[in-house]
Amino acid sequence: MKYYSTNHKAPLASLEKAVVKGLAEDKGLYMPELIHKLPQNFFDSIEQLSFQDIACRVADAFFGEDIPADDLHKIVCDTLAFDCPAVKVEDNIYSLELFHGPTLAFKDVGARFMARLLQYFIRKEGKERVNVLVATSGDTGSAVANGFLGVEGIHVYVLYPKGKVSRIQESQFTTLGQNITALEIDGVFDDCQALVKNAFMDEELNNHLTLTSANSINVARFLPQAFYEFYAYAQLKPLLQQTGKQLVVCVPSGNFGNITAGIFGKEMGLPIHRFIAANNANDIFYQYLQTGVYAPKASIQTLANAMDVGAPSNFARIYELYGGSHERICQLVSGATYSDEAIRQAMRACHEQTGYVLDPHGACGYQALKEGLRENEIGVFYETAHPAKFKEKVDEILATDIAIPERLAAFMKGQKQSIALSKQFEEFKSFLMAQ
Ligand SMILES: *Cc1c(COP(=O)(O)O)cnc(C)c1O
Repeated sequence: MKYYSTNHKAPLASLEKAVVKGLAEDKGLYMPELIHKLPQNFFDSIEQLSFQDIACRVADAFFGEDIPADDLHKIVCDTLAFDCPAVKVEDNIYSLELFHGPTLAFKDVGARFMARLLQYFIRKEGKERVNVLVATSGDTGSAVANGFLGVEGIHVYVLYPKGKVSRIQESQFTTLGQNITALEIDGVFDDCQALVKNAFMDEELNNHLTLTSANSINVARFLPQAFYEFYAYAQLKPLLQQTGKQLVVCVPSGNFGNITAGIFGKEMGLPIHRFIAANNANDIFYQYLQTGVYAPKASIQTLANAMDVGAPSNFARIYELYGGSHERICQLVSGATYSDEAIRQAMRACHEQTGYVLDPHGACGYQALKEGLRENEIGVFYETAHPAKFKEKVDEILATDIAIPERLAAFMKGQKQSIALSKQFEEFKSFLMAQ
């Protein structure tokens, strides 16, 4: 399969190039040339298949031409070493819990898949060590670091702003050791991101080291997220058949990678009726749906901070998929936007009425579904992170003392190891030149 750029200027790329480069030369996002429909008999018996089996079929449709079946099977099974159950919250509303992975957030699947795919290419080409640079404001760093942990041939440098990430988040990438190095930058997130961008543009550095990014726009991080939706459908199919209702998928969205992967799933033939994109106060997509004008702006800080995105990158993929038609996009996706106060209210109402504890991101999804669900529909929202990752906020809002899962507590017991650097590029560069 070849990959083309959403800006239509860069040459077509192989899967390997798209994964190693991330972004096309014309700064566009890579799109697969074809989206294969899966055969009817797959959907007829999907409820009898395991999560891994379903994911293997989906992965094969995208990557099967480029990766031998045995290797792909191993990559998928290694990636999905945990479950994503659809849990009933109330009548017709289900939570797809995407937080059962190592860092308790949905980005685990994309990060783990990308690490293994990159390793496959490194081995095949007999490449020397590849170095992944990733700037994080919290969650991306932990998912990438854990996704790549112990993967031979790859070293990861996580750049994070000193004093700006929570202790729980920090512990998830500073205590790992092995092939993960945490760099504590005396600056803000934007400084970390600028350092990474400058590193990719520095010729001397790129001659010395093979550098790559594990950015969320990478096709290897983004496409595997379609697995979730197939599995959600498989779990809810018996109920859908019994009731004759249709499935609506509601995704708390920031960069729109997760929902775009879901839309790809529908294009592969999965019977999803429609989508709801739930935003926090960063309502760029919501405004696009209302007006037809896509107007990115600076992000604002909210309670659901992993969705604080002012220029959602994957919008370009949705736009491309539907030929830029506002009408077609509106037919498929509706939107919702919630202030911090509305998020708090949704968390409290859900907890009081159902006992279910939402995290601030999932709360946007729950509320959008509750307000938007129609008579003939069953809805599933993605619970994108475990509430304990935001324990202080959640406890304060719900007046609870929620338990910290064992694997999260284990990170916090680890020894913090990080290297302090200033935000000056020269200092970062000399550090990397010495590696
Ligand atoms: C990254 C993230 C999101 C947003 O996902 P996108 O694919 O960027 O839309 C939502 N919730 C949590 C907890 C996240 O970490």
